[in-house]
Amino acid sequence: MLPSSRDRLAPPGSAVNARPVPLAALGNARPPLDECCTVRKRQTLLSEHHPTNAEVAAKFKQFAFPSTATYYAQAIALERGRGTWVRDFDGNTYLDFFGGILTVSVGHANEKVNAAAYAQMQRIGHTSTLYPNLPIAELAERLVRLAPGKIDKAFFCSSGTEANETAAMLAQLHSGQQELIALRHSYSGRSMLAQALTGNAKYRAVPTQVPGIKHAHAPYCYRCPFGLTYPSCEIKCAQDIEDLIQTTTAGQVAGIIAEPILGVGGFITPPAGWMKLAVEIVKKYGGVFICDEVQTGFGRTGKMWGVDHEGLAPDVMTMAKGIANGYPISAVLARTPIAEAWTSGNIATFGGNPIACAAANATLDVIEEDKLVDNAAALGKVLREGLDELKQKYAVVGDVRGRGLMQGVELVVDEKAGDRTPNPEATLRILEETRKRGLLIGRGGLHGNVLRVAPSLIVGRSEVESALKILDESFAALTS
Ligand code: PMP
Repeated sequence: MLPSSRDRLAPPGSAVNARPVPLAALGNARPPLDECCTVRKRQTLLSEHHPTNAEVAAKFKQFAFPSTATYYAQAIALERGRGTWVRDFDGNTYLDFFGGILTVSVGHANEKVNAAAYAQMQRIGHTSTLYPNLPIAELAERLVRLAPGKIDKAFFCSSGTEANETAAMLAQLHSGQQELIALRHSYSGRSMLAQALTGNAKYRAVPTQVPGIKHAHAPYCYRCPFGLTYPSCEIKCAQDIEDLIQTTTAGQVAGIIAEPILGVGGFITPPAGWMKLAVEIVKKYGGVFICDEVQTGFGRTGKMWGVDHEGLAPDVMTMAKGIANGYPISAVLARTPIAEAWTSGNIATFGGNPIACAAANATLDVIEEDKLVDNAAALGKVLREGLDELKQKYAVVGDVRGRGLMQGVELVVDEKAGDRTPNPEATLRILEETRKRGLLIGRGGLHGNVLRVAPSLIVGRSEVESALKILDESFAALTS
């Protein structure tokens, strides 16, 4: 007779073969399980009654890392969303012009996206990349066909951070160089490498641990790092990259990572020609161009990709946020010779999760069928005109910038008197005033003094007009 599997696997005398000790033999020497686990960790379930906004927010605050940021003096706990509207636990409704950080691209609870996700959930909810699934295969093809230039390979992961981390390593592997150019005021994510790439001390939890990252000046015309004015500046901030490479690197670089509009940095929008010149210089020194489309992708700027405004084709692109209307998925796209440079094993357990991929495919369907890129361009124009009017009206508005449905409003002490000191206090007050009136917007910028206005791409004209009216009233309240 064959031995049982237990006999075969466990050597004689090992713990597995040992006879179980009867519980009674342990006497009173009970482990203090009740005290340390059951009692202390008993959960109070808010979901057993209809909780208030304050209860949900307080519970989150109690148990989340203290560093987990929330907006507003009293955080808004969201219970429901539909289209461009959301509702909190107290029943207050808000026009959502931030979309969970530019992520809800085709509206909350979009029926087509939800139906696609649910249908996939019923088939199979997880496979890992070891077993290709249909939605991942379709999404990979779709994204490379949509991407500009010769990009023809895709890799999926779960967040913008992970995508940028992958892209940076890919640039190093392909070029054989280590040093990377990133931008001041940029945001790349929250991993150690992504934090090191990020050009903002506020988001660096630990001192820079990853060597070889050089931060070029941002194309920040409103606060030109050289005190110059476009176009007579001849785009000095791009030209300076050559000096940066020659003086601070070994003379060859792996690449540059750049956002077409610096999102977290406060929607800093480069002047025409900046990206082309910056990329040309980096290529001259052996580097590749990584375009971070995490915020600007999927029609946000009135074109499919932020880089489409520049007439450039990246070597590597990263994308997340708007890709699947909020389902967690990100992608790195690259040309074959670059993708081939990664020769070690490469697994992302959750990368290309079939539910998230099905949601992404449905999101792309909605963007295409409902012509939402055109809507972003058209409504972005209406939004921009309204914000420009606010700039004429209120001295606290220093600059209005952005593209499509990605518009930033930088607040200063007094633009009309020439005082451009950043005004984060006014920015916080505008956030509270707009909240009171039922509008959600975001905040950004190195000094936290930029309003970020970025509704879902499905937004209608009357909603843009309502948002502008609320902003107008909020600025009036600030000055009264
Ligand atoms: N890149 C950019 C341009 C971003 O705005 C962000 C997130 N704000 C990231 C990367 C990181 O994305 P995630 O939060 O999904 O890791």
